[in-house]
Amino acid sequence: MEVKSKVLLIYTGGTIGMVKDYETGALKPFDFNKVKDNIPELSQLDCEIESISFEEPIDSSNMTPKDWVLLSSIIEDNYNSYDGFVILHGSDTMSYTSSALSYMLENLAKPVIFTGSQLPIGDLRTDAKENLITSIQIAALNKNETPVVQEVCLYFEYKLYRANRTSKVNAEHFEAFDSPNFPPLATSGVHLKINSEYLLKSKGKKKLKVHMNLVSDVAILKLFPGLNQKLLEAVLHTPDLKALILETYGAGNAPTQEWLFNMLKDAIKKGIHIVNVTQCTGGSVLMGNYKTSEELKKLGVISGGDITTEAAITKIMYLLGNGVSRKSFQTIFETSLRGEMT
Ligand code: ASP
Repeated sequence: MEVKSKVLLIYTGGTIGMVKDYETGALKPFDFNKVKDNIPELSQLDCEIESISFEEPIDSSNMTPKDWVLLSSIIEDNYNSYDGFVILHGSDTMSYTSSALSYMLENLAKPVIFTGSQLPIGDLRTDAKENLITSIQIAALNKNETPVVQEVCLYFEYKLYRANRTSKVNAEHFEAFDSPNFPPLATSGVHLKINSEYLLKSKGKKKLKVHMNLVSDVAILKLFPGLNQKLLEAVLHTPDLKALILETYGAGNAPTQEWLFNMLKDAIKKGIHIVNVTQCTGGSVLMGNYKTSEELKKLGVISGGDITTEAAITKIMYLLGNGVSRKSFQTIFETSLRGEMT
């Protein structure tokens, strides 16, 4: 007899979990324990669904690394009891949380699918139902009793993405996310098409290792024409700062002003990691291609390649939390750990 897949739904908050009170017109949280009563279509899925919810569901703008730790501990505690996990999360910071979890869950061999919606689940034109139903379907997929997806993903508006490749790009359209530097892992149309060639495969049968230490003494600074010395100075003198992401122009370029180089040089000497991530949505940092990035490379600025800012900042928190030495930080950062860079 075929055993049904078991999926755990974890509700953290966000628009997806809201329904309209038709008497007052106000949005109120939806009881995910009654998910099948509210979305009867779920009964057509050939899997068992159980759900748990954050004690106090939150708007994802309030997510912190502490919540990422809570989420990964829920997955760790339930890892052997379920075949897949669906995390319902507000879309605003979904790319940050899901990128963080991709690092925190080492040797992951089961699907962890983040999803949410632009409109509440009870809304007439909601995108929540499709996002939720297909996410559960993907989390339950297996072939020869092995999960088809074995990584942290984000499903939104008919596309499954590698989570640490995504950014939220639209606050209005249902197609709220994009993964400009990596193709979708699956697309949902008349058929659910899995692009197996892009999926990460778990290596061997290593045990899940959950990393709960994250260090958030980090900063992001976006370059703009007119950036002044005082601002950079203030950022670099932030107490306990351990790393700074410089969001640069194009393929990793920055102005060639001497004060900028001197400040970055001093910071690197003090042990602050400077990471170069492009502010373009697509493409990659290629330091040395132009005069305006050649110096950065010589100074010891770390290349973010084609990583997103969301995946870069969470990778830094994870590496710092794991006590990666100053010497090996650059090499490890520039290596793809969970498929987050090409
Ligand atoms: N502000 C909401 C949140 O991120 C938006 C959403 O749910 O998509 O929690």
